[in-house]
Amino acid sequence: MNVETLIIGAGPAGLTTAYELTKAGHSVAIVERDPVYVGGISRTVNYKGYRFDIGGHRFFSKSAEVEAWWTEIMGNEMLQRPRSSRIYYNGKLFDYPLRAGDALAKLGPVEALRCVISYGWAQIRPHRNVVSFEQWVVNNFGRRLFEIFFKTYTEKVWGMDCGDISADWAAQRIKGLNLYQAIIQSFGLGKKPSGSDGVIKTLINSFRYPRLGPGQMWERARDKIVDQGGTMMMGSTITAISQHAETGKWIAIVTDAQGKETKITADHLVSTAAVNELVRMLGADADPAVAAAAKGLRYRDFLIIGLITRGKESFDDNWIYIHDPSVKVGRIQNFKSWSPDMVPDPNTACYGMEYFCNAGDDTWDMSDADLIARAKQEIGQLGLAEPQDIIDGSVVRQPKAYPVYDDTYKINVDTITEGLEEQFTNLHLAGRNGMHKYNNQDHAMMTGILTAKNIIAGSSVHDVWGVNEDAEYHEGGSAGDDKIEERLVPRRIA
Ligand SMILES: Cc1cc2nc3c(=O)[nH]c(=O)nc-3n(C[C@H](O)[C@H](O)[C@H](O)COP(=O)(O)OP(=O)(O)OC[C@H]3O[C@@H](n4cnc5c(N)ncnc54)[C@H](O)[C@@H]3O)c2cc1C
Repeated sequence: MNVETLIIGAGPAGLTTAYELTKAGHSVAIVERDPVYVGGISRTVNYKGYRFDIGGHRFFSKSAEVEAWWTEIMGNEMLQRPRSSRIYYNGKLFDYPLRAGDALAKLGPVEALRCVISYGWAQIRPHRNVVSFEQWVVNNFGRRLFEIFFKTYTEKVWGMDCGDISADWAAQRIKGLNLYQAIIQSFGLGKKPSGSDGVIKTLINSFRYPRLGPGQMWERARDKIVDQGGTMMMGSTITAISQHAETGKWIAIVTDAQGKETKITADHLVSTAAVNELVRMLGADADPAVAAAAKGLRYRDFLIIGLITRGKESFDDNWIYIHDPSVKVGRIQNFKSWSPDMVPDPNTACYGMEYFCNAGDDTWDMSDADLIARAKQEIGQLGLAEPQDIIDGSVVRQPKAYPVYDDTYKINVDTITEGLEEQFTNLHLAGRNGMHKYNNQDHAMMTGILTAKNIIAGSSVHDVWGVNEDAEYHEGGSAGDDKIEERLVPRRIA
C-alpha cells in the first residue's frame, strides 16, 4: 500500500488529522491498536447496550474551529446538556461550585466553628516558607477546610501527597474551583468579588455532548474518513518501520491481530502513540540520552467500573466528586444525565465508578470480579445505590490516561523531540500522549488540524507545539472565544 500519510492511533488527534487530509484529497492509512473502538481515551464503551465513557467527556472548546468541526460531524445529534455536579462529604452532597449557605448548613455549627478556629490558628501561626500545596492552602484557609474540601480528592486523582505538590498549583486551582472563597466569605473573611453573590459566575453551566457519547462522534468521523477514501486498520500495530535513505519515504510493516502483515510506504508519519512507545518503535532508543528520557516519562492510569442498577438513579448530577477518605472511588458518573440514550432501559441506571491508579498497583491488578464487588460495596457505603439493586457491572482499564508533569518531564520531552527531529524527517507528533502534553480532546484535535494543514502546505507553517492547555478550559469563559492560556497541573516540589 502506498499512501501520502500514515497515522498511528485513531483517537481524536489521529482521526481529526485523517479527516482533514482526506477531505483535501490526500491519501491516508490509520493504524489503530484497538480491535473495535475508535476514539482512544474519548471512546464510548458499549456493554450490553449500556454506553459509558472513560470518565465523562464534556465537549466545550474555546476554539471556534473545533466547535464548528463537531457540528459538521454530528449535526443535530450534538446535544446541549445542563452541567450539574456536587461534592460528597461526610454523608452529604454539597453544591458545586460551593455556596456558602448550603455549605454552612450541611457542615453544621460545630464543624463550622472548627473551620473558623482552624482558620484563625493559621493566621496566627502560618507556615513561613511556603513550598507545598498543603502549606499554601492551610495558610490561606485553615487546616480544617483543607482537609474537608481538598486533600482527599486531590490525592486520589494525582496519587501524590498534598505535602509533595508544589505550591504554584494552589493559586490557579483555587481560583478555578473557588472552593474556599465561598465558605470564607460566609464567615465575613476574605475579599468578596464585586457584584458577586458568592457563586462563581464563569463556571460553565452547560456543555455539548453527542447523543450516544463521544464514541459516536469518533465513529462518525471514522465513517466519513473511509467515505473520503481513507484506510482504517483496526487491531493493528506497526511492527517495523524505517526511512528510505534516498527518498525519505517511510516504509512500515503493519501487523494485525491474526498476524497478517501489510507493507505500507508513506511520505509522512503522524504519531499519536505515547512518545516513549514511538521512540522504541523507531529504534531511536539506540541513543542513550533519548532512551533515558523516554524511560523517564511517567503516566497516571485510570479505570472505570460501569455499574448497572435497577430503578431510578439516586442523583441527577452528571457526576459527584467523592471527598470521603474511607472509599477509594474518586468520582461517580451518572451516564443517563449525560444523555438519556446512554441507557437502553429507562427503568435502569448506569453509574461510572472512577478509580485513579497506577498500572501495577493493587487497584489496577485486582480481578474484574473483585473490582465490581468493591465498587458495589463502596457505592452502597456512600448511600448512592443499594447493592442488591446492582444487576451487572463491567470494568474498563485505561493505561496512560494522564501524562505526568514531574520535575524532569519537560527536559525529557525536549531531549526526545530534538533526537527524533535530528534523525527523522517527515515525522509529526500530535495529540495528548503523542506530545506528552496535558491536552484535552479539543486541544488534541487542534494539533491534528494544524498537522494536516502543515502536510497539505508542504512545510511547517503552523506551530503544533504552540497549541496549549487552557487554564480555565472547562471552568469558565465562552465557547469559541479562542483564548488559549497555559494550564498548570500539579508538579512535585523540586
Ligand atoms: C478521565 C478523563 C476524563 C476526560 N474528560 C475530558 C472531557 O471532559 N473533555 C475533553 O475534551 N477531554 C477530556 N479528557 C481528555 C481526552 O480524553 C483526551 O484529550 C483525548 O482523548 C486525547 O486524544 P488523542 O488522540 O491525543 O489520544 P488518545 O485518546 O489516547 O488516542 C490515541 C489512540 O492511539 C492508539 N494507539 C496508541 N499507541 C498505538 C500504537 N503503538 N499502535 C496503534 N495504535 C496506538 C490508542 O489505542 C488510541 O486509540 C479526559 C481524559 C480522561 C483520562
